[in-house]
Amino acid sequence: MLVSAKEMLQKAKAGHYAVGQFNINNLEWTKAILLTAQELNSPVILGVSEGAGKYMCGYTTVVGMVNGMIKELGITVPVALHLDHGSYEGCYKCIEAGFSSVMFDGSHYPIDENVAKTSELVKLCNEKGLSLEAEVGSIGGEEDGVIGGGEVADPDECKMIADLGVTMLAAGIGNIHGKYPANWGGLRFDALEAISNKTGDMPLVLHGGTGIPEDMIKKAISLGVSKINVNTECQLAFAAATREYVEAGKDLQGKGFDPRKLLAPGSEAIKATVREKITLFGSANKA
Ligand SMILES: [Zn+2]
Repeated sequence: MLVSAKEMLQKAKAGHYAVGQFNINNLEWTKAILLTAQELNSPVILGVSEGAGKYMCGYTTVVGMVNGMIKELGITVPVALHLDHGSYEGCYKCIEAGFSSVMFDGSHYPIDENVAKTSELVKLCNEKGLSLEAEVGSIGGEEDGVIGGGEVADPDECKMIADLGVTMLAAGIGNIHGKYPANWGGLRFDALEAISNKTGDMPLVLHGGTGIPEDMIKKAISLGVSKINVNTECQLAFAAATREYVEAGKDLQGKGFDPRKLLAPGSEAIKATVREKITLFGSANKA
């Protein structure tokens, strides 16, 4: 059964570790992530962007696939199914379809409108027992074609949104989506500390986890980050392993063209990435 992310993140915040959100794209992705979380006895959040939702034939298909896998694979660790960077309309669609968590990305609205729309969703999510992530200060890089400026969020705006009763808060602290450029200045720990001080025990979310050095991840967790989003890193690992298989000509040997064989190295590479992240974030054996 899918659960809200509330309890797992409050425990993570109190216990000074972070729960990984791993974005899914298809059956192989979902299966690899669920099996690894179970193997490490870790809570897990499956992230679905609106683009990935469309690709997987809509949110009801995603809910059916994930619920089916939890049952068939005997998954007993807490699993939240979460809309990543949802639009206002997307949040309603996912709630209707059976997601257990949504992110409303209102960062591109003026703060008053972000507050109004977030408040409405807080009420609905509370009624239904779902978790809600809000965002303040857009996160740079590219997320399904939306390019942000890489801002640092204003701590007072963060407090304003946190006080609305959201479950977790994403705040820009110099992090970006996708690969980090060579001239990236690193995470803004001064900003993170100021936001953390203002928002108290609110679990904070770090987007764009791919390529942030391990020591920075650990420091961010120590300063109140309780959820870390990983997307690009699994994609890169899957692509590299698949390339290796094809370049070695293995798809031309025997029944190497069988998708169950062709996609196996990529799936194993996702598992290895997820294993590494869960260990780094400290959520193993916290289910
Ligand atoms: Zn993001």
